[in-house]
Amino acid sequence: MDLLGRHALITGSTSGIGLGIAETLAKHGCNIVLNGFGDDEAIAAIQRRLAEVYGVRVTHASADVSRAAECRELAQRAREFGPIDILVNNAGIQHVAPVEEFPAERWDAVLAVNLSAAFHLVRETLPGMRERGWGRIVNVASVHGLVGSRDKSAYVAAKHGLVGLTKVIALETAGAGVTCNAVCPGWVLTPLLERQITQRMDELHLTREHAEAMFLQEKQPSGQFTTATQVGELVAYLCSEFAANITGALPVDGGWTTQ
Ligand code: NAD
Repeated sequence: MDLLGRHALITGSTSGIGLGIAETLAKHGCNIVLNGFGDDEAIAAIQRRLAEVYGVRVTHASADVSRAAECRELAQRAREFGPIDILVNNAGIQHVAPVEEFPAERWDAVLAVNLSAAFHLVRETLPGMRERGWGRIVNVASVHGLVGSRDKSAYVAAKHGLVGLTKVIALETAGAGVTCNAVCPGWVLTPLLERQITQRMDELHLTREHAEAMFLQEKQPSGQFTTATQVGELVAYLCSEFAANITGALPVDGGWTTQ
């Protein structure tokens, strides 16, 4: 692909899908600004590994993207590293509970990280993309931006919101050399899903194999988890010139939303 020397800011890229996207974009020659929580030494090790293996520049900018002010600071620090050609809004959190028992504080947190952070970071980065006449915004939404599941009111609302935001940005940037896409994964085995699998194992006294099979059987007709690398390669494609005319929302869900 033709991403050599581009600069990418990827939120929530110290783990899971975000890390898979960072690794794939680095493999395609992008310089990377990592963001996300985690142990300092583990994050430094990711930085070193990506830089050494792929010969790109990598930095980490810590910011809690649930706070508008920290999104501004994150964009500022990323701009000091290089022009933000690619913005991947990936940071996300989950909370699972029936709506009448859903803590209001968790609702606010899920909306802030999964939806509002993308709004704040697009506001910060789009002007530069417009000036340069080139940009790629990829929002990591979810199948839950397209369909619902019980006990996930905040997450489903936030991800539907993110798909809506994506459509508006896609329209507002059409013809400006900037695209905005939402990728909508089904199940991907990451720490975020791991917590839900462990919860199910504890509640129903299941083995790991049984719990994983249950998750797939309930939702994902392919019977397979998507991998972070598969999502990463789709993001890299969306960032390439081949995808200059693709702007919208894309499921990566083993057939989940075709049902
Ligand atoms: P994960 O828990 O492995 O990673 C989440 C990342 O976000 C971590 O790096 C974490 O440090 C970071 N993060 C969390 N809160 C943050 C905050 N306030 N500020 C900055 N960083 C923060 O989860 P994942 O499964 O890799 O999820 C990544 C994205 O993919 C999320 O948006 C999630 O909703 C979405 N997604 C996941 C799945 C799945 O099955 N795992 C499916 C569809 C969509």
